[in-house]
Formats: sequence, C-alpha cells, structure tokens
Amino acid sequence: MNIVVLVKQVPDTWSERKLTDADHTLDRESADAVLDEINERAVEEALLLKEAHGGEVTVIAMGPGRATDAIRKALSMGADKAVHVSDDALHGSDVIATAKVLAKAIGTVEGFDLVIAGNEATDGRAGAIPAILAEILGLPQVTQLRKVTVEGTTVKGERETEEGVAHLEASLPAIVSVTEKINEPRYPSFKGIMAAKKKPVTTLTVADLGVDAGEVGLGGAWSGVIEASPKPPRSAGQRIDDEGVGGSKIAEYLVGQKLI
Ligand SMILES: Cc1cc2nc3c(=O)[nH]c(=O)nc-3n(C[C@H](O)[C@H](O)[C@H](O)COP(=O)(O)OP(=O)(O)OC[C@H]3O[C@@H](n4cnc5c(N)ncnc54)[C@H](O)[C@@H]3O)c2cc1C
Repeated sequence: MNIVVLVKQVPDTWSERKLTDADHTLDRESADAVLDEINERAVEEALLLKEAHGGEVTVIAMGPGRATDAIRKALSMGADKAVHVSDDALHGSDVIATAKVLAKAIGTVEGFDLVIAGNEATDGRAGAIPAILAEILGLPQVTQLRKVTVEGTTVKGERETEEGVAHLEASLPAIVSVTEKINEPRYPSFKGIMAAKKKPVTTLTVADLGVDAGEVGLGGAWSGVIEASPKPPRSAGQRIDDEGVGGSKIAEYLVGQKLI
C-alpha cells in the first residue's frame, strides 16, 4: 500500500498559546512546537497498515522551517519519506488555501492508495481539511474513524457517534480521518531515531507545486481575525462547606447562574 499521512506541527498544549499583535496569527515562535498527537496516531495507523499489507508511508507537512522536527518524529516512528511544503507566502493561510496546497503536495506522491489525516488539529481546530481535500481531489472520504481496515481495494472503518457506530467503506484511493480512539502511537526507538536522519525529505515551495502565491497566506484568506484580546483571568471560585445542606446550596448557586 502506498499511504500518505498528513502531519501538522502545532504548539504544545502545555505551552501558553497566544496570537501575534501584528496580524493575529498564532504566535508559533513563543510556544514549544510538537507533532500533533492526533497525527502521531495517524502515522501509527499507517504503519500498522504497512505492516499488514506491505508498502510505503509518506508524510506530508505544510509548515514553517521548524516543522522539520515534526517530520523527523514521524520518520523516526517508521514512516519512509516526507514532503515538507515550506514557503513564507503560506503564513496565515486559511483552511481552503491549506487544503489546496496539501492537495497539490499529495499529487506529488505517485500512485497513492490512501491518505490518512487527523480529524481535527489541536490549534486551528477547523476539522475540515480532510473533507475539503476529498472535494478537491475527487476522492471518497471516510472521516472520524475509530477503526480502519483495508480489504483488497476497499477501506473500511467504524465511526462512533452519540447515536451509535456507523460502519463505512469506500474504494481506494480514498481519504480517511481518524479520532483519538484509533490506537496508541508507538514511541520512536533509538534505531528509528538514527534511521530517520537518513530518510529523504523533499522540500517544496508554492511555486514548485504550481500554486499562485496570491491564493494563499493572509492575503488569500477568505476570512480574517480583525481583533483579539486575551481571555480575562479566572475569578476566585465560591466555596461551599457542607454542613448538611451543601447539595441545596450548590443547586441554589447553579439556579442563580441560570445553569439549571
Ligand atoms: C491563530 C489562528 C488564526 C487563524 N486565522 C484564520 C483566519 O483568519 N481565517 C481562516 O480562514 N482561518 C484561520 N485560521 C485557521 C487556520 O488557517 C487553520 O489552522 C489551517 O488552515 C488548517 O486548519 P486546521 O489545522 O484547523 O485543520 P483541521 O481540519 O482541523 O485538520 C485536520 C487534519 O488535517 C491535516 N492538516 C491540517 N493542517 C495541516 C498542515 N498544515 N500540514 C499537514 N497536515 C495538515 C492534519 O492531519 C490534521 O490533523 C487560524 C488559525 C489559527 C491558529
């Protein structure tokens, strides 16, 4: 199987996240950057499919220069090669531009069978890239999966919702997105870390992909952040000591807040 995994470098959830004053984009420099955990799971799923069916795993990341760290992590887990789309023109790209660029980058991987993405990135949280990609590439999409199997030329999956579990399938090539229930990602081994240093990483610009720089970045975005302010500090909570009527005092408080 020829599998592509979309991996995004995001600010670590433990770092303080803030927006830049200049253009209200995410201040990536001030936060520790990591491979998004949902994308570690996407890589893991690709590696499990490769172990079951043979083949090759290519990771694709669109992001600034330091995104190479996220790419190396995916390679040290066991992915075979990578494509890094890096270009200053991409700064501030919206979901549509991001999907356009990723679609072109996927197109550089000859004969791919399956594209695996996370269901939602932990920074942008659009949860839309897999669906937009499917539209652009004209491929079936099987999204929000907690289980993925491939049988012949069919990909099958389970999507868990509040109403129950849906069993879905599509013909390959297809795009799937996975949720945090899909698996537990492996830790890179020392051997894997050393091997990753020698694995091929192709770096491409928007021009290399034939994308017009005017269609991407802040200038090409269909929406923009006009104003942003930090959330107010948390106020002190109200302590209720239970002297036999704690339950009703909490209920009174919740009624007062119009929460019940
Ligand atoms: C501070 C800030 C400001 C923003 N301002 C705007 C704005 O003004 N207008 C606007 O339209 N959007 C804005 N966005 C959204 C931003 O453009 C999105 O983060 C980006 O386009 C991708 O969306 P997402 O990561 O939420 O994708 P999702 O759809 O949540 O991601 C799902 C999956 O797609 C894949 N994926 C997503 N991005 C990449 C990538 N770069 N490389 C490889 N794989 C990827 C991963 O597998 C990921 O798990 C802003 C985001 C932030 C953080």
